[in-house]
Amino acid sequence: MRGILVAVLFCLPAPAADADLILRNGKVVTVDTSFRVVEAIAVKEGRITATGTNAAILNSERTPRTKLFDLGGKTVLPGLIDAHVHALEAGLSEFRGSLPVFDSIATVQNYIRSVARSRPKGAWIVVPRTLPPRLKEMRFPTKLDLDVTPDNPVAFDGSYVWSANSLALKMSGITRDTPNPPGGEIVKGPDGEPNGILRNASQLLKGATRSETFRDEDEVAALSKMLQLYASAGLTAVGDRAVTPAKFAIFEKLKSRHQLPVRVTLTWRIDAARPVEVIVSEIQASSWATNQGDDWLRFGAFKVTLDGGQSVGTAYQRMPYGAFGRQLYGQTDPDARGTMFIDPEKLYRIMSAARDKGWQLTAHVQGGGAIDSLLDVFQRLDRDKPIAPSRSHVMHGSFMSEAALDRMQQMGILVDVQPGWLYFDVPALKRVFGLANMRYFFPLRSFIDRGIIVAGGSDHMIGHDKNRAVNPFNPFFNMWATITRRTREDETVYPQEKVTRQEALKMWTIWAAYHQFAEKTRGSIEPGKLADLVVIDRDYLSCAEDDIRRIEPVATIVNGRVVWGRL
Ligand SMILES: [Zn+2]
Repeated sequence: MRGILVAVLFCLPAPAADADLILRNGKVVTVDTSFRVVEAIAVKEGRITATGTNAAILNSERTPRTKLFDLGGKTVLPGLIDAHVHALEAGLSEFRGSLPVFDSIATVQNYIRSVARSRPKGAWIVVPRTLPPRLKEMRFPTKLDLDVTPDNPVAFDGSYVWSANSLALKMSGITRDTPNPPGGEIVKGPDGEPNGILRNASQLLKGATRSETFRDEDEVAALSKMLQLYASAGLTAVGDRAVTPAKFAIFEKLKSRHQLPVRVTLTWRIDAARPVEVIVSEIQASSWATNQGDDWLRFGAFKVTLDGGQSVGTAYQRMPYGAFGRQLYGQTDPDARGTMFIDPEKLYRIMSAARDKGWQLTAHVQGGGAIDSLLDVFQRLDRDKPIAPSRSHVMHGSFMSEAALDRMQQMGILVDVQPGWLYFDVPALKRVFGLANMRYFFPLRSFIDRGIIVAGGSDHMIGHDKNRAVNPFNPFFNMWATITRRTREDETVYPQEKVTRQEALKMWTIWAAYHQFAEKTRGSIEPGKLADLVVIDRDYLSCAEDDIRRIEPVATIVNGRVVWGRL
């Protein structure tokens, strides 16, 4: 019966020329296998039905009811995909008011002063999460920096490391005699007194809380706002890289109301601090799996966080953080190499359980030591059963090595990268490790030359402004950083690792789609694919290189519908 039906379907004549929408007179960069540039696109019921010259498309696809848009020579790209964001956290971060850009200790101090004016005496002020390498001074603030208000306890949230002002230390009873908490440290100054820096010891601050509470409806509104801002930046799909069941419910709510402006692929991140048996049974009991869902909302990878962050001196490195680590991260042990949160045997058991459920696997790994450890586990899994078909990948993988690249190539492991960090973080990191030890810091050319599929992402987590956020989610800024490898000190980091404009575009389109098992439906402008497009204000392929970061979207189209801007 089914065979007959298939035969009948294939015998049907080609559908009549009846596009809902034709975009013509443009420079349409298709990102198909031969990177063709065409003039016109026809769209019907949310899908691309044809591409080609103005004449051919108008002749074959147009009917009296077709909407026609003249692009006036503008460039059209496939809808851009940011493979790595944290949409809900970012949405909430400025939901109740905007934050300044914390790019110097002075901006931190100004923020404290301005908040103090409206807070009662004795009320806590917490400076939201700030990455010390992004501060102009490139040093971790101490109590002296935070002593700008006499009446309020102040805490600076640097993630794993916090800092507190004198009043906060006093109110929390932290003195030179306070014992260090297990695994944490109260850092002392040359005078033997606490200097305010608390490494993995922020729990000692009595009354300082990092997270505000939000009602469910606020979370839905914040997520909706953030996704709309993604659309306004030219993104038509994102990968949300740390979803829990509670967060999933927020995404589901938006979807059920048909209010997702962009497509979302979810990464399930589990809390790996618990006993391995508990984690494994949670994986086995879960009804989630890779590729579950539809074109709007679906599951991608399964994730654990294997090491800390390079921004806080906790990414697990192959070499120590050394003397500059003290200044930048408040570290006291020059031999410290960072922190690994999961031992190899436990990681193998967790990943093995997830793989048995059909998951695409990934782990947050920034330091080289953590990358190597993840690849060891991938190799064990690969010996059990080839891992390549699962499209498993290294997440971030900042500190690569030639050996790691070779192993990824051999096993068919992919990578999710944040080239914006070349611009923002190399100036501080090179003072820590020396540029000579950063030869394989985001080695983009090496990945591509080895056939390792690279997805581009921002790791956007705080802020609503596409250029001022941490990290900026403006895809054109990130593609510019990918192409130029320039830092904010205007230095080019290993130019032999530069990629072309075409390759950078693939990282934000077809390769990101491949990571999400969506390359057959998204990532290029080809007949049969979803009509996800972005019209931009200058020619990506031929504009001056420094103009790439200044490209602005004119209209963002998802599923054949303009979700932002106008045609
Ligand atoms: Zn992330």
